[in-house]
Amino acid sequence: MKTSLIALILFFQTSSWGFTLNNTAGAAFTEDEVKLYFADNCVNSGIDTSEWLYLISQTALRFWNTAPTSRLTLSEAGTRSVSTAFYTDSLCTNSSSDCDINPDLVVSDNILISCNEEATINFPDDRILAKALPNNTNGKTINGAIVLINDTATNRFQSMSIDEKISVVAHEIGHALGLGHSRFREALMYAESLESRTKLGWDDIEGLSFLYPKEQPFGGFCSTIRPDYIDTDVHHNHDHSAHDHSDENKAPYVLMIMLGAVVFFTYRKLLPRL
Ligand SMILES: [Zn+2]
Repeated sequence: MKTSLIALILFFQTSSWGFTLNNTAGAAFTEDEVKLYFADNCVNSGIDTSEWLYLISQTALRFWNTAPTSRLTLSEAGTRSVSTAFYTDSLCTNSSSDCDINPDLVVSDNILISCNEEATINFPDDRILAKALPNNTNGKTINGAIVLINDTATNRFQSMSIDEKISVVAHEIGHALGLGHSRFREALMYAESLESRTKLGWDDIEGLSFLYPKEQPFGGFCSTIRPDYIDTDVHHNHDHSAHDHSDENKAPYVLMIMLGAVVFFTYRKLLPRL
């Protein structure tokens, strides 16, 4: 009876969260404050510089700064002058975890949000709204990250509402912070953009608190859970309308089936026999 009770508890615990990480090492920024810079280079985004700065500030205020168990604070840090390569180049020559970002373009200790019109590698499809490049990491440390917005002439981002745009950019910032996709539809980090989100899902909060735990006054950390699997797809091409989930979420289901079998065989002894 004890065994089955423990199995039941484990069953519900393992199926209760679904965030993933963007990097097998669980890399994160080491600073408590990460700055969000805007490369003021958009042509086809449908909004001007001041609206962009408002949008970026809202990704922090509505989403990533709202987790009470996380030490992280994001701050909108204004525009930043960058090379035109940020707008025209793929910036990334392969899709492996050590993606070869041009060293001249590396952004240190912050996240840069830039528009980009490169249509061969980055945005071959209008449905791809935005993407987070593989983060510039060293072991468990993220040194910098770049989010690209589809700025091709026919991109779909430009026709979205400001709230939808905030959701899309906030999702990409989640990747820049080290999070992968969540399997829960209410999460900001769910792979598909279903509708504009207004706040973090509890699963986003768990993921953020895992990577950026707030230290407690008496020692220890708020978040003690571990992700049930690692999302190693670090090169997120965001086709929000048709994301392939085929390789996601396998590990928790295998564990759930195994635990379910334990419960079944334990309880079977208690069943009346004919
Ligand atoms: Zn994504």
